[in-house]
Amino acid sequence: NKLRGVEDVHLESFPIHDVTVYVLTKDNITEPMRDIRRALLEADVSLPVVRRFVSSVTEKALGAGTIKGVRPDQQLVKIVHDELVQLMGGEVSDLVFSKGGPTVILLAGLQGVGKTTVCAKLAFYLKKLGKSCMLVAADVYRPAAIDQLTILGEQVGVPVYSEGTEAKPPQITRNAVEEAKRKNIDAIVVDTAGRLQIDKAMMDELKEVKKAVNPTEVLLVVDAMTGQEAAALVTTFNIEIGITGAILTKLDGDSRGGAALSVKEVSGKPIKFVGRGERLEDLELFYPDRMAQRVLG
Ligand code: GDP
Repeated sequence: NKLRGVEDVHLESFPIHDVTVYVLTKDNITEPMRDIRRALLEADVSLPVVRRFVSSVTEKALGAGTIKGVRPDQQLVKIVHDELVQLMGGEVSDLVFSKGGPTVILLAGLQGVGKTTVCAKLAFYLKKLGKSCMLVAADVYRPAAIDQLTILGEQVGVPVYSEGTEAKPPQITRNAVEEAKRKNIDAIVVDTAGRLQIDKAMMDELKEVKKAVNPTEVLLVVDAMTGQEAAALVTTFNIEIGITGAILTKLDGDSRGGAALSVKEVSGKPIKFVGRGERLEDLELFYPDRMAQRVLG
């Protein structure tokens, strides 16, 4: 229990009509707040996010007033939990669908984060919702990426739109949208090229693809193991291309998921899904309250 310190705090309490009334004071929250800060840093939440969080929780806790019958430690745990949930958007945030024409979901992210896998998982998810779907191979730099998407498309049972490696991604994506319209397909998921590092060429291409098709969703795929770096990554992608949300992958690993805290905080955009494995069904909607538990350990 990362909040073990809270059990030892000096309690400011006094009985009124047989009910003990407790107050959170600067003295009795200092130690537990230190533990919370440590827990967040251990979960790989980025330092500026931790700082802002701790100061906002401290303020809330000190303003909580007197609490009948609820010990400060329990009250503080609840405040921390609720604040974490709020920080991550509060509610579940599902996909947005286009009202006219096909819904276009553009996926962005660094190489190896699980973008191509997410394409297939989303197609599987959309199929379960009863929506027809098509995958679009707009990563033209790695021929293997197109093959991988084709195989995944076959597994899910959805068509894959590709123009090989010669065509340009904005053109491919524009043509794919036309194809989806002709075939009355509800949604397309576009797999774009990732690189090991953020670079200008990648961002410029994403901007062009975005401009070409005006996507309904631009989802940034983030590897949960990214940890501290997630805040800077999300900030850059959001400023450069403008995202509508994120997908956090590889949560089946050891990571405590601190990256999740940074996403909404730095971009104002929610995490919509989490990936918990390599199988098609390993994609779930993101529940802020479950993640709050995980981050606190
Ligand atoms: P891309 O380069 O972003 O398209 O990444 P890929 O989709 O090719 O995935 C890179 C590797 O991560 C592959 O070996 C995937 O099987 C694996 N992977 C993707 N998502 C997950 C996940 O949620 N959990 C785990 N454990 N592995 C994943």
